[in-house]
Parts: sequence; C-alpha cells; structure tokens
Amino acid sequence: MSQIIAPQTDKPNMPPYEEVYRNFDWKEVEKNFSWHETGKVNMAYEAIDRHTETWRKNKVALYYSDAKRNEKYTFQDLKDLSNQFANVLRKIGVQKGERVFLFMPRSPEIYVSLLGTIKVGAIAGPLFEAFMEQAVRDRLENSDASALVTTPELLPRVPYKELPALKHIILVGDGEIPNDDGDTKFYIYQKEMNEASREAEIEWVDREDGLILHYTSGSTGKPKGVLHVHNAMIQHYQTAKWVLDLKEDDIFWCTADPGWVTGTSYGVFGPWLNGASNLIRGGRFSPDDWYATIEKHRVTVWLSAPTAFRRLMAAGDEKIKEYDLSSLRHILSVGEPLNAEVVHWGRRVYGLSIHDHWWMTETGGMLIANYPSMPIKPGSMGRAFPGIEVAILDNEGNEVPRGQMGSLCIKAGWPSMMRKIWKNEKKYNEYFQFPGWYISGDLATMDEEGYVWFQGRDDDVIMTSGERVGPFEVESKLVEHPAVAEAAVIGKPDPVRGEIIKAFVSLREGLEKSEELAEELKIFVRKGLAAHAAPREVEIRDSLPKTRSGKIMRRVLKAWELGLPTGDLSTMEE
Ligand code: ATP
Ligand code: MG
Repeated sequence: MSQIIAPQTDKPNMPPYEEVYRNFDWKEVEKNFSWHETGKVNMAYEAIDRHTETWRKNKVALYYSDAKRNEKYTFQDLKDLSNQFANVLRKIGVQKGERVFLFMPRSPEIYVSLLGTIKVGAIAGPLFEAFMEQAVRDRLENSDASALVTTPELLPRVPYKELPALKHIILVGDGEIPNDDGDTKFYIYQKEMNEASREAEIEWVDREDGLILHYTSGSTGKPKGVLHVHNAMIQHYQTAKWVLDLKEDDIFWCTADPGWVTGTSYGVFGPWLNGASNLIRGGRFSPDDWYATIEKHRVTVWLSAPTAFRRLMAAGDEKIKEYDLSSLRHILSVGEPLNAEVVHWGRRVYGLSIHDHWWMTETGGMLIANYPSMPIKPGSMGRAFPGIEVAILDNEGNEVPRGQMGSLCIKAGWPSMMRKIWKNEKKYNEYFQFPGWYISGDLATMDEEGYVWFQGRDDDVIMTSGERVGPFEVESKLVEHPAVAEAAVIGKPDPVRGEIIKAFVSLREGLEKSEELAEELKIFVRKGLAAHAAPREVEIRDSLPKTRSGKIMRRVLKAWELGLPTGDLSTMEE
C-alpha cells in the first residue's frame, strides 16, 4: 500500500474525521432547510431562491463559458429565469410528478430549465447531448416523458412521432418549428420566456416527492433509470460542504455534464445549496482549453474524473507550465478508480493531492471520500462519510476480515439513496438482497483504519488459477509504466487456469506499439505486483472503448475478445 499523505488545505470546513464520524446526525443537517418548519420543501428554492433573501442575492451563482458565450448569472437572475421557465411549463400544462426531459448541449438554458422543472414539482430527466436516436428513444419511452426541452440541431434524434406520451417539445435556439400533423406541440423557448412572468409560485413538495431521474452510465449493461427525491438535498448539502470544501469565495468547476449524476448532484445542487459560485464550461475536453479555463476563471476547487486526469497526464507536464494554475486549492476525482500513480503525479505538477471519492448514480451522493481534513492514502477511495456505514461482505452477507476482498455494501437509509429503478422493481430489489444493506456491485477491501480500496466491479473480477484478482490493481500497475496512458484488464476463459488475464492498453502521446513493449509490460506487472496477476496477453490499442461519461467498458472488450454480443452500446463513445 502506498504512503500516507497529510492534509494540505488550510482550515477545512470539516472538523477532524474521527470526531465528526462519532457524533454526526443527519437530523441536524435537515435543520438547514425549510421543511424543518413548514413540512414542505423544494430543491430549487433551497438551492437558488433562498439565497436571494440574503446578501448573496447579487453574488454570481453561474459563470458560463464556451467558444461563443461568456456569461454570468447571479442567484437573483437564476431565480427570475427559473420562475419564468416554471411559468412556461405551467402554461403548457405540465403537472407535478410528470417527467420533463432536457436534451441539449451544456448552456445556461439547461440549468434554467432544470430549476424551472423542479419548481413546478415535475421530475427532471437530463440527457447527455451526444446521445443518438436509440438512446434518446429508450429513455423517453421508459420514463413516459411528457415534455422535452431540446435544440433544433438535436431534434432529428428525437423520434417524437413514435413517442405517444411526449406531448410538448420546447426548442432552445434559432430554428423552425417542424411542420407536421403529429400530436406533439412545439414551442420556442425564447418566445415563451419573453412572455412569462418573473414571479412564480413554487410547488412545495414532500421530501419524498420525485426530483430527478438519471440513467446510469451503462458500463456494466443496459442503463437503469434511477429516481431521486428532494430529500437528497440533505446529503448534497453536507457532502459538498465537507468533501468539496466549498467556501464563500470559491470558484468551483465540476467538469461533469448534467446528463450524468455528478453533473447535477455536484454540478448544480451541492454547490448552490451552499451558496457557492459554479463555473460551467461548454465544449469538449482538450488539455489546453481546460488549463486556460482554470487560469481565466481563477478556479479554486476542481472536480473531474480519472479519465480526464489520465489524459492530462499523457499530454505531458510541460504543458502545465504554460498556464497559471495557482488559483487551485483543492482537486477531486470521481467516477472510476483513480490510480495511485495519478495522485502522485498531481502532487508533482499541481502541488495538490487529487482527492478520490466514491459513489454511484443509485446512491445520489458521495458515500466514501478522502477529506481535506484527513490524511489520504493514494489508491484508496477514502473512508465512509459521517452518518454512513460501509461494510465489506461475503456472498452470504457476512462481514469479511479486514484486508480481504468482498462486496462493497452500505447500511441502507442514507438521505440521497435512490427510491426507485424506474418501472423495474425487480432490479431495485436486487440491490437489497442482504436485509438492511445496499449492495453496490463493486468489490473492495477495507484496511484497519477504515480506508476502502476499490478492486473492480463484481462482473469484472477474474478467477485465475484459483485466485480472485480485481482488475484494478493490475490496471494500476500497468499505468505506472511510463509508456502506458490507460489500461483495462479482463478475464479470458482458459482450460487450465480457469481464466487468464488479458490486458488492453493505450500508449502515451507519440509512442509506437511493438511486440517488445507488450512483453515488457507483462514482465513489469509480474515483477511489480505478482506472478499470478500478470497478464498473459497484452494488446496495445489506439484507444479503449468508453462510455460517454468517460468510463472504460470492460464488458465490451470482453465481448469483442470472446466474439460474444456486445449488449447495449447506447452510451458508448464513438
Ligand atoms: P451501469 O450501472 O449502467 O453499469 P456505472 O455503474 O458506470 O454504469 P455510474 O452510476 O455512473 O454508472 O457509476 C458508478 C460506478 O462507478 C461505481 O459502481 C463504481 O464502479 C465506479 N466508481 C465511481 N467512483 C469510483 C471511484 N472513486 N473509484 C472506483 N470506482 C468508482
Ligand atoms: Mg452501476
């Protein structure tokens, strides 16, 4: 295991870990919100409107930046605009509990629509802009969405004539309203907004009412529609405060798209519940544009994903010297395992540890994290958030000894836990097969101090010569090799060993593949990790198949390798 790194942040919001873990009570966090007095609540009010009753009224809530637009919105602006959008939805007849889907590129309008949807008590369904027709159809069909906000450019991917539940389409941006005799009614966003009042009644809802429907990333199979409720705000608020460590003058940049849960729980709700300033950047990843964004906006807290950090690492350390990144004070990573190598690299080039943390679409908010107030262990996802009980269980639901690999499980009942898999109760129940526990589907170990170490997905574990090997440790070892940018490891059936380990790797910029390098990588893992964990086959590829949220799709590599059907590819990058 890697060495321990002491905390670096001055005066973190979170008190010393052991102290708060012992005394924490979610009931105390609840007292921050209006239902404590009224019994009713609304996420959009708590995240936005509430701040307009204080000096934060004119504080910038949203800095938006892309190749064409550079805009600022105060909390008051977002209150007014989301009121207008709420009035648009009311005018066209959208009711509480209906699903309103948002399918558009990152833009201020997507945030306004999201907040307005929530204000009328409807359930928001954000979709990633790169989805193609089948992916859009699946989600609109599964959710019976009644309204959709999209753009004229994306409309051709919406088969609205075949979606009987879809009654309204609101178009953002210039374009013609399609001329047809279908049952769907079209509206122009800007025209409707111009006509709508800035005053709106908020739909005060119950804490258990639906807030947002997010589809999972599709890394392990067909994406699931995960329903979250307004109650989740308790968790969003407290985790953003302690893990993101947001303070009044921070400029926070979450690079995730709102089509994925990170892009709403921590791109919208968590920061705004804390009254923080959010930076949203449109457009695609490029090392130069990203560093320029940090420099230009003086970003202080930065949340991104391992795939981005690995790509920045592959782009070379020289690049970093071209930019002034001195505003950064806290960096976080989520979504995939963060190789220890990347944490060490971060310390070298940014002078900051990258703080890994773990959660899932289904969990709605962070559950395990490395905190600014706690020493971190590179390669570990950290320790349970206060109020959260984590256990590593065997197949019967019994706790395994510390250090042994088992199923990563959480004591059920945290505030942001999913309330439903949309129209799939059977799937929902599969998460709760051990009474009282939520089964994540991930494998992990826990050390004596309660730090959790990710090993792989349940489906991806490899049985080779009687040993269980988690793909992550093999992949991390491969990434330590100076030639390797990314690695994915699968088990391949073998008559003698049960399975053998096959590794797929992509190389750092400018390097050529060769047989010698493949051999060298096998030896590198054998010597650096263990003989049984060394890949017997190494295939060097130009790239690895990934979800659009940037996760390596091991199941696709496996299907290709074994000549099996690849399953649902709706979330795969081109
Ligand atoms: P699907 O459920 O559709 O197969 P998915 O599990 O990738 O896709 P998400 O809910 O977006 O969908 O991702 C959650 C998963 O991401 C976790 O179960 C875990 O496997 C992985 N993950 C998230 N954070 C981390 C982390 N810090 N370290 C390791 N893995 C992580
Ligand atoms: Mg999952």
